[in-house]
Amino acid sequence: MRIGILTIGNELMNGRTADTNSSFIAREINLQGWHIEIMMSVGDDFDKIKTHLHYLLTFTDAVICTGGLGPTADDITTAAVAKAFDLPLYTDEKVLAYLKEIFVRFNLHWTENNAKQALFPQSAEVIPNPVGTAAGFVLPVQEKLVFVIPGVPSETNRMLPEGVIPILRRYFPQLVQHTFKQTVKTFGLSEAAVDERLARVNFDALGVSVGFYPVFPENHLVLIARSDSQEQAQKNLQKALDEVTARLKDYTFSYGEQTLEEIIAAALTEKKLTLAVAESCTGGLIANRLTDVPGSSVYFERGLVTYSNDAKIQLLGVPAEIIHQHGAVSEETARLMAEGVRGNAKTALGLSSTGIAGPTGGTKEKPVGTVYVALADGAQTICRHYAYRWDRKRNKLVSSEAALFLLKNYLQGKV
Ligand code: ATP
Ligand code: MG
Repeated sequence: MRIGILTIGNELMNGRTADTNSSFIAREINLQGWHIEIMMSVGDDFDKIKTHLHYLLTFTDAVICTGGLGPTADDITTAAVAKAFDLPLYTDEKVLAYLKEIFVRFNLHWTENNAKQALFPQSAEVIPNPVGTAAGFVLPVQEKLVFVIPGVPSETNRMLPEGVIPILRRYFPQLVQHTFKQTVKTFGLSEAAVDERLARVNFDALGVSVGFYPVFPENHLVLIARSDSQEQAQKNLQKALDEVTARLKDYTFSYGEQTLEEIIAAALTEKKLTLAVAESCTGGLIANRLTDVPGSSVYFERGLVTYSNDAKIQLLGVPAEIIHQHGAVSEETARLMAEGVRGNAKTALGLSSTGIAGPTGGTKEKPVGTVYVALADGAQTICRHYAYRWDRKRNKLVSSEAALFLLKNYLQGKV
């Protein structure tokens, strides 16, 4: 199915509003296995709406318009669409009664221009608006469909999946495909590296499309399988997932929407383990992320931001000589920080970070982006060294991720 998008509004033309409706609609339509042929935007103008609508319909099966359904004089979309096809307007009595009822319910003063929102082109079918006053409509013309829904994004976001897509499926049943979607979250590989590892997988043959979504410092993949048969789509998605897992191995950590901190939360809770954190370069970010999860008090005992050498010495018992000999950013210090906070807090686990976030403070031996994270469990202390290359904010974020990733791998028996 070929679909066109026509977003309407002077605010789009003068740049006051960014056209987010088009990208939202495109995402939802692609999820159905349908194609967006073209996206256009026009101002609130009778002639332009008519010209562009006819143009789009020459090579699409349906056009989805948004915007310009309000009660004010500058909102002309309904009248313009009617005029484009030489159709008169009719008043939908049910919509009119509903509008009047809303005005009474919210104690608003009814003015006649509001009746405009109950006008529709002849032969149009009303699409109810569950979150606003402006109803939309679908108009069948020349075996094709013209949809018009309001421009307010929160209304578009509801009326597209609840109104427009079911009507498209009803009108074009032969084009309905079964779709299954799965997110895979990865950490530790660049987007290019993920791409390279997946280069030889023939997703096309499986009828699966793969989208890349970098959510720093993670890279997320969205796999979408489509088929005429539900069973086949499900099977193909599973095959694609198996291929992805085989190639990305332990760089993947979540199959679905679960976050890294939520996975850790579930594992710590299940294993009945407690955790304390000592942070330097991450400045409390690790503790912040861990406590983003509801119920974290069950396993999270404390987090210390031991930023200065004195703090590391006084609060974590890191010997001053170690810091002087190896530096605050060193494997030795990271290990002693994790062991120190674990000992003080009497928790099962201690997690630490120390590094140089930048932009200053780097040396030739320890450049900006040098990070050590360590995890102590009483029997052993595991330390990892990383060399990142981002700005300060990103270095802090990726360091918190590295520490949490080490913890996750430990909890899953992968280190
Ligand atoms: P209403 O009944 O609320 O007036 P409407 O259909 O008339 O609905 P518009 O007046 O065109 O909608 O726009 C309402 C709001 O939606 C405005 O704030 C506008 O900036 C925003 N908007 C319109 N079109 C888009 C778009 N394509 N993308 C994002 N926002 C949009
Ligand atoms: Mg408008």
